[in-house]
Amino acid sequence: MRDELLAEAKRIVIKIGSSLIASREEGLHPEHIERLANEIAALRTQGREILIVSSGAIVSGIRKLRLKDYPKSLPVKQAAAAVGQSRLIWAYEKAFERLSIQVAQILLTHHDLADRRRFLNARHTLSVLIGFGIIPIINENDTVAVDEIRVGDNDTLASEVAHLADADLLVILSDVDGLYTDDPRKNPAATLIPLVPDITPDIERLAGAPSTFEGTGGMATKLRAAKKVAEYGIPTLILNGARAELLPTVLRGKPGGSLFLAKERRLNSRKHWIAFTLRSRGQVHLDQGAVDALSTRGRSLLASGILQVTGLFEAGDPVSCFTPDGKEFAKGLVNFSSDSLHQMKGLKTAVIQEQFGPQEYEEVIHRDNLVIL
Ligand code: GLU
Repeated sequence: MRDELLAEAKRIVIKIGSSLIASREEGLHPEHIERLANEIAALRTQGREILIVSSGAIVSGIRKLRLKDYPKSLPVKQAAAAVGQSRLIWAYEKAFERLSIQVAQILLTHHDLADRRRFLNARHTLSVLIGFGIIPIINENDTVAVDEIRVGDNDTLASEVAHLADADLLVILSDVDGLYTDDPRKNPAATLIPLVPDITPDIERLAGAPSTFEGTGGMATKLRAAKKVAEYGIPTLILNGARAELLPTVLRGKPGGSLFLAKERRLNSRKHWIAFTLRSRGQVHLDQGAVDALSTRGRSLLASGILQVTGLFEAGDPVSCFTPDGKEFAKGLVNFSSDSLHQMKGLKTAVIQEQFGPQEYEEVIHRDNLVIL
């Protein structure tokens, strides 16, 4: 099962973590990028289409700016990213040029993924590049991304790119071997888990705290990324990219790393986008009748089922739906602003029309724009 799945994956997003290609003390290691480029070129000769999500801009910028430490303030991080990103892409450019492969730089922010039009536009650009045989090298546009529009870590960015590009597999390369049954630094009897059919809370507990300093993510963000793409039908392989030749041999079916299987149920792209890419701007708390209507009878949300509205949002914004006991159970695009909903909540459609005149929509969230989580 594992072997077949890995052998058959045609379009692969490969995330390369900072610690594989750069260090704070020495900056970028172009020879590591060259080695990875050789391995990726080998995958291409097996007929695979590759997209790379690479970290390392900030870490290489630290060295270029002669900073002593990983910057804490956002403007310094952004300056480091700006000087580091050009060096990073230049290293990839040179590493792949030796192999007669062209690359393209793509810098994204959360905005590009959250806005449907920009999402589709980015998807189109990626497929044209892949059609030309070019390897897109993607990073977050750290230089301009303020906190509200940042994806924040490249494990998450890679999961969003896998969705964007409709990939068959997400590979997360870092300096860890994969998911262990226990912390291998403390427990020598811990073993690597080769196949994870489902990311259960027990599995999530194994992830523990971030392990390396150079990147922003640890095993926990990797599992979150794997969980996200699993919902969309894309499996994730977590692999140690520091071990030479592991990537091409594991993809040919040899043991190594941890593979997380995807759910069979594929949310369609639009619903996946609502559930996982968009961030909620507000909350609606519903009565039990409305919760049942939405979650078991596939109905749309009407104003009469809303008990309480929090947050400031406009028509068209994503909002989360909560059960009476405060559990988030659904998310959708709302047809009314928070101001309007404050007035309409709890009221029947006929009463709303009587009091406020005819409305463009009857549903507060139409079921086509609603995802049960
Ligand atoms: N975008 C950041 C960089 O290139 C890395 C973020 C991360 O490590 O997840 O430095």
